[in-house]
Amino acid sequence: MRKTNTIFGKSDPGVAGVSLPDTDVANVNIDEIIDDEFLRKESPNLPEVPESQVVRHYIDLSNKNYHIDKNFYPLGSCTMKYNPKINEVVANFDSIKNLHPDQPVETVQGAMELIYELEQMLKKITGMSRCTLQPSAGAQGELAGAMVIKQYHIFKGNDKNVILVPDSAHGTNPATVVRVGYKTRVIKSDSRGRVDIDDLKKNIDSKVAGLMLTQPNTLGLFEDNIQEITKLIHDVDGLVYMDGANLNALVGIVRPADMGFDITHMNLHKTFSTPHGGGGPGSGPIGVVEKLVPFLPVPVIDRKDDGSFFWNYNYPNSIGRLHGQFGNFGILVRAFTYIKMLGDRGLREMSSNAVLNANYLKSLIVDKYDVPYTDGIMHEFVISGIKQKKRGTKVLDIAKKILDEGYHSPTIYFPINVPEAMMIEPTETETKKTLDEYASTLIKIDKLVDDNPNELRDAPITTPVQRLNEAQASRNPDVRWDFEISD
Ligand SMILES: *Cc1c(COP(=O)(O)O)cnc(C)c1O
Repeated sequence: MRKTNTIFGKSDPGVAGVSLPDTDVANVNIDEIIDDEFLRKESPNLPEVPESQVVRHYIDLSNKNYHIDKNFYPLGSCTMKYNPKINEVVANFDSIKNLHPDQPVETVQGAMELIYELEQMLKKITGMSRCTLQPSAGAQGELAGAMVIKQYHIFKGNDKNVILVPDSAHGTNPATVVRVGYKTRVIKSDSRGRVDIDDLKKNIDSKVAGLMLTQPNTLGLFEDNIQEITKLIHDVDGLVYMDGANLNALVGIVRPADMGFDITHMNLHKTFSTPHGGGGPGSGPIGVVEKLVPFLPVPVIDRKDDGSFFWNYNYPNSIGRLHGQFGNFGILVRAFTYIKMLGDRGLREMSSNAVLNANYLKSLIVDKYDVPYTDGIMHEFVISGIKQKKRGTKVLDIAKKILDEGYHSPTIYFPINVPEAMMIEPTETETKKTLDEYASTLIKIDKLVDDNPNELRDAPITTPVQRLNEAQASRNPDVRWDFEISD
């Protein structure tokens, strides 16, 4: 055991890691401009490390970490697709990265034009009337959308308190519903893994404020009765919300507004290739139909007659402000670049390839692994490890063995309506060769279930930490920074 191989543990007092240029502003005494009570009494505890050590430290950490630039990352529902480096080049233009959000609008017209143009692109992709780019993640987009639903009913004087959520919904959907003070009512799936229309009809009454539906759903399937579903909800003046986090199966092929949705969010950090994971910055814009535009968060970006852009706060029925500024601008720049790079045809190919890759990978492993729903697979599919479980190996063991094979594990035990679920999303950015290799790994693991199950039970053995006691980690979390790590 070695004490603290964090950057703090590597600190060597007196060793300078920075050389600052001479200041070009006059020196002032800090206590002349800041009240004594706000001044630090002791120096901050900062690591003192030379640049070479800083670089080695973080390269070492990035090697321990798993990321999309390292290898295939088929984590279902997360769209861990390759992030083209051109996105980073553009986001790092001086004229973009050096902007300050409080600059006067006359000096940031270019940045505002980019936000405005991105909104136009998202309108074209979704068929919606307007979008807000403020939400910082898909879940915050859902919150914005659910608040818009509530605001709509308040302004119409509707007495509503229930939002319907299919049992195949992403976990954030029911959480969002509860957060805005509505109740959820769960709708069953039918034998095809789609919304059970009879159960839906049974649950619709005048109290229904709306329906939140993930499209494609969490089984990776297209809800093909969607126009009937949206009509049933509209008949009671409900609104239909599309969880469009995984729009990479639909862009250029079908638009949420045409399916009858009133609101959709889209995860720019999935569909439009910006780095994410580990809670990193994201962006979850929502688009809404015309009648919901007055409720969008402020400020809304608008254009004056002279063509200049301004932040419009004059939306008296708005749900309010959702972001300290105007959204995660750096992520918007990356998504803008990606969409511009692909163009109309490229985006349609993106969606077709996402669907092709998922169906191809499924076809390679379907003899060994049970795939309960195969009819209409879009960008991802769910396998059930029940055949392996009957032979004594849990899907958890399979997932851990996948780590030893040099891949990130798929999502497991979700969705909950499939036993021993394993959710695989290859994404459109992987080659046939990568998918072939991955399929052979899964087939090899299936063989180990009979030949050497202990190798699965002991996995992983090649990762920085081995199998963790997950229950203990959640019951007794230890979040101090000065922990000990074995080498
Ligand atoms: C990822 C995802 C979300 C949540 O998005 P975040 O950006 O992680 O908040 C919601 N719904 C679906 C279907 C998703 O895949």
